[in-house]
Amino acid sequence: MIKLKYSRIIIIGSGPSGCTSSIYICRSNLKPIILTGKTIGGQLNNTYSLDNWPSIINIKGSDFTFKLINQLKNFNIEIYFDFIYNVNFLNKPFILIGEKFFYYSIFIIISTGCHYNVFNVKFQLKYVNKNISNCAICDGNFYKNKKICIIGGGESFFENLFYLKNLISFKILFIRNKFFKSNFNLIKKFFSIINSHFFIKLNIFLIEILGDDFNIFYIKIKNFFNLKINIIYIDGLFIFIGSVSNSKIFSGQLKIKKNFLLTKKYQLYKKTITSINYIFASGDVQDYIYKQAITSSSSGCVTYFNLIKYYNKFYN
Ligand SMILES: Cc1cc2nc3c(=O)[nH]c(=O)nc-3n(C[C@H](O)[C@H](O)[C@H](O)COP(=O)(O)OP(=O)(O)OC[C@H]3O[C@@H](n4cnc5c(N)ncnc54)[C@H](O)[C@@H]3O)c2cc1C
Repeated sequence: MIKLKYSRIIIIGSGPSGCTSSIYICRSNLKPIILTGKTIGGQLNNTYSLDNWPSIINIKGSDFTFKLINQLKNFNIEIYFDFIYNVNFLNKPFILIGEKFFYYSIFIIISTGCHYNVFNVKFQLKYVNKNISNCAICDGNFYKNKKICIIGGGESFFENLFYLKNLISFKILFIRNKFFKSNFNLIKKFFSIINSHFFIKLNIFLIEILGDDFNIFYIKIKNFFNLKINIIYIDGLFIFIGSVSNSKIFSGQLKIKKNFLLTKKYQLYKKTITSINYIFASGDVQDYIYKQAITSSSSGCVTYFNLIKYYNKFYN
């Protein structure tokens, strides 16, 4: 038998964005439902150390998300550890189909975040919260005076590299596979900053990652022209081969651009409304630029202000 759950407001996702919206909504004495998905607390679970959240000097990512969820529990919010795999937004109430329950609601907040692209290389995921990173601003600080390897070739690669260049003085090794996939200005800037700290390798495949239980020690790379294999010892590996927003289940129902949910970003009090009124999107799922915990949290707060206006009109 299908088990149904109802609330006037349902939040999909329990990262900084979904949790922030939930806190604001609960503090207005409303009773939303929050659905955690498979990563309770969101992507920050994957970071070893969170160092850029004001007021907290340094905290393990999983400790931070534990606190986040505990804070929610203080509000007696209804939390379901469920993953939504289909939706029907054609009519109100909107329907969400989860692995455990069916949900229906008048207002939906989508905060399903994003995930980073990975190589098809064994053991890569094992080191993601250790010494593999997808975010220079988040983790660059931990590699001062260390030897790192940066892989990419597109826009996010260049943006992250420009951040790292001032931080890591020892030796930056840049490996590129395939071709530059970025705009000319970024490529021009890149050639203006390279110096002896950069060791550049082109046309490279990453073929193996080797380390112990805690850290990668070295990587194996292969040149796809001369098939030469090299082993390179490193302290950290930064991979920038793009990120994908978790918007797939909404395709065909909401407007999506380059896999990010489209919102009315430039309209006052509507900034986080999607292509359907009463459905909001906040955090990384709609953010193709910043993708930080604090920006996700702040967009969760903006969503509350956008939503409450519509909510009051609808119910009063
Ligand atoms: C390794 C790593 C380290 C990072 N380090 C930092 C850092 O140091 N500082 C910083 O500011 N930022 C850091 N970030 C970025 C930061 O984690 C994100 O910007 C932030 O978590 C985005 O928050 P969000 O709420 O939008 O989404 P997320 O945190 O991605 O949360 C998404 C939520 O949606 C849920 N979900 C997804 N799909 C479904 C579904 N179909 N049904 C139900 N639920 C679903 C997930 O389970 C999760 O709970 C890091 C990211 C990574 C990957």
